[in-house]
Amino acid sequence: METRLAPQYAGTPEGQEAETIVRTCVHCGFCLATCPTYLLLGGELDSPRGRIYLMKQVLEGAAPTAKTQLHLDRCLTCRNCETTCPSGVRYGRLVDIGRRIVDERVARSPLADAKRAALRRGLLSKPLFGAALSLGRHLKAWLPASLAASVPDARPAGPWPAPRHARRMLIMKGCVQPALAPDTDAATARVLDRAGISAIGVDGGGCCGAVSYHLSAHDEARAIARRNVDAWWPEIERGVEAIVVTASGCGVMLHEYGHLFAGDSAYAEKGRRIVELARDPAEVVRDAWSSLHPRRVDRLPVAFHSPCTLQHGLQIRGVVEQLLGDCGYRLTPVADAHLCCGSAGTYSLLQPVLARTLKENKLRALEAGQPQVIATANIGCLSHLQSGTPLPVRHWIELVDQALG
Ligand code: SF4
Ligand code: SF4
Repeated sequence: METRLAPQYAGTPEGQEAETIVRTCVHCGFCLATCPTYLLLGGELDSPRGRIYLMKQVLEGAAPTAKTQLHLDRCLTCRNCETTCPSGVRYGRLVDIGRRIVDERVARSPLADAKRAALRRGLLSKPLFGAALSLGRHLKAWLPASLAASVPDARPAGPWPAPRHARRMLIMKGCVQPALAPDTDAATARVLDRAGISAIGVDGGGCCGAVSYHLSAHDEARAIARRNVDAWWPEIERGVEAIVVTASGCGVMLHEYGHLFAGDSAYAEKGRRIVELARDPAEVVRDAWSSLHPRRVDRLPVAFHSPCTLQHGLQIRGVVEQLLGDCGYRLTPVADAHLCCGSAGTYSLLQPVLARTLKENKLRALEAGQPQVIATANIGCLSHLQSGTPLPVRHWIELVDQALG
């Protein structure tokens, strides 16, 4: 699309990057067929092409309105459109820039602002989140069924092997996952240990920054990312081979650290190093697979939900399915596996109606093959799906850990 930047954006790196992205869109509309919000709502402005057009208008100087903001808010940032686009439009990057510009100029209601601020505060504070979760578990029997379903039961993490190998990788602990599913990182540490790799957990880091970043609080995201870099840097200097990120949503955010620190001379190089080191466990386990010897698990039927952040963000497709199959699990068919489950970070809390519909559709597709377990790769998807099904929903690494048993 031909674009002429308004003077206020013409001299800025973000404006220039956004213009380059908008120019790659040839308006073909192929992306509409795979956009979950377009499929649900049917309006052009709830499609990738429509949103690109809205952002182009703003970049050219049109005043954004509450309607512009609404259509950008409804986007899941699932990046399904990037996978479909034949022109290589980097939509995810564009919508991050577009949202920040629009949010700077369009005020939200005090209630909406308070909700977004409370989400950032609650999810970013491990003690606050842990206390709320613990209270929810104690009161679960008295909560309304819909609310009780969103409070997961506590499960033991199991042992974390002591470091004993020359090969070492750092495991990023994240914000909500240690409280919601401590077994995920511990299972990863056990699998790595069997592959001859010691998993190092570092205290001091926290949220990857995605919650703040996707709520247009870019400076806050940068401050959070700097804290992580500072916490991890001593281990990086001691030679860890990789930073293993067991939530694919956080993995995508770590790959943004290069962008995040562009123009920050103290952290730009470190940001690039983090991007080089960030690995999803699927990549690590795939590479180490020849050294692992799973006992065959008797064709237990498993439905795998590949998070958007894994298949569209990190572009890792088919790897987890292959690993689970090699362990002996029987993967059940899942229709429309490319579509989002509606979790999408804070989306399920900010757009509950759309998120619930997407969850119901996704669970119908996952349960159609009568699995005994649903596996996924991201804590947000795991919690969101678990709140709508009696089937256990687990991180896939736990199934591999059991098979290696
Ligand atoms: S990121 Fe997802 S919801 Fe947003 S426009 Fe692209 S396909 Fe649609
Ligand atoms: S598929 Fe790509 S080029 Fe075509 S309209 Fe969508 S974003 Fe633009």
